[in-house]
Amino acid sequence: MEGLLSKVDSEIGKILQEELTREQKTLSLIPSENYASKAVLEAQGSIFTNKYAEGYPGKRYYQGCRFIDKIEEIAIQRAKKLFKCEHVNVQAHSGTQANMAVYHALLKPGDIILSLSLAEGGHLSHGGKGTLPYKYYRIVNYGLDKASERFDYKEIRQLAKKFSPRLIIVGTSAYPRKINFSPWKEIAEEVGAYLLADMAHLIGLIAAGVHPDPVPYVDVVTATTQKTLRGPRGGLILCRKELAPLIDRAVFPGIQGGPFMHIIAAKAVCFKEAGEPQFKDYQKRVLSNAKALAKVLKEKGFRLISGGTDNHLLLVDVFSRGIPGDRAADLLEEGGIVVNKNSIPFDSRSPVSPSGIRLGTPAVTTRGMGELEMEVIGEWISEILLNPNDEILRKRIRKKVEEICEKFPIYKN
Ligand SMILES: *Cc1c(COP(=O)(O)O)cnc(C)c1O
Repeated sequence: MEGLLSKVDSEIGKILQEELTREQKTLSLIPSENYASKAVLEAQGSIFTNKYAEGYPGKRYYQGCRFIDKIEEIAIQRAKKLFKCEHVNVQAHSGTQANMAVYHALLKPGDIILSLSLAEGGHLSHGGKGTLPYKYYRIVNYGLDKASERFDYKEIRQLAKKFSPRLIIVGTSAYPRKINFSPWKEIAEEVGAYLLADMAHLIGLIAAGVHPDPVPYVDVVTATTQKTLRGPRGGLILCRKELAPLIDRAVFPGIQGGPFMHIIAAKAVCFKEAGEPQFKDYQKRVLSNAKALAKVLKEKGFRLISGGTDNHLLLVDVFSRGIPGDRAADLLEEGGIVVNKNSIPFDSRSPVSPSGIRLGTPAVTTRGMGELEMEVIGEWISEILLNPNDEILRKRIRKKVEEICEKFPIYKN
């Protein structure tokens, strides 16, 4: 991964090497992280970054877009085929930008958005404090059912009827269960709201057919390409044909200028990879690994939110074992296991020091790890968290983490 960079800019080149070593020698259990393929990286680091291409294929505001148009067309066609949808916009710079574009396309200032509260696993871009949607729209939040820690359709329907939102959002960053889209569609139809599925986390599972498909049920799907889809850092919007002009105009010129053509090229590569049979096997292993990790942690006495997982992530209540989420994440990082702190439903603690940690298997599965490794990793997590004062233990585990990481390199050559 070296080359010209370290010669031209030794400062950045050195940090690149350090980050590469960190990624290689630690276990990422952050559910939103993954390792993009070398082909994706190559496209992302290519001369496509040089081209200005405001507009859409065949309708650009710049000359010289002959090849760029082909790239964007291929990306769009591949995504349409992969997700069996009528229209695709591949220009959104990120998942958050994709959501902003949808709001800009479908809402007027003051309209009501009904979304999951941030504390219960919603995403900032669904109208959290300090965000643009928080300023321009009225945000109403639903929560989760206290006993099951799952969606409470009765409450969602009641809120929808009471507030008549213009937009309902389904999609979360920390929900370990399958999402069925038909009750959402029913509710949205009952109140005449648009329905947005924010599949930032689940899009790779959906591409592989191991999670219910939102496309037949919703008006718009937004997603990121860097999480379970294992592509470049970027956004993606799928929608019905009727909404296509609104969505496209909302992305450009609505909220963005020139598209990132190097990223769009990398998205095209990732859609190709996601359409291959190995990708389906990969996603199946992501799920079986998450189940295996959940099983060990449960056996060790940890409480999992909603009792387990049927997707790529799990939320663990670590505070019930006496250790806040931020401290847990710090201790695990000392042991070479990288996770993030996370609020749990009905958390009595603050987001800065919440009760939980969030774990996911997309990245370790890309490295080729399987259920055996998940068992070992689950045991290490448990040992570290149950012995917070044992620094020697963390050092010992850190060594073993490095050994296992060497056996499963992030890039094979
Ligand atoms: C990660 C995520 C996003 C945003 O992704 P960015 O690319 O970081 O902007 C949006 N919605 C949900 C539910 C997410 O988990």
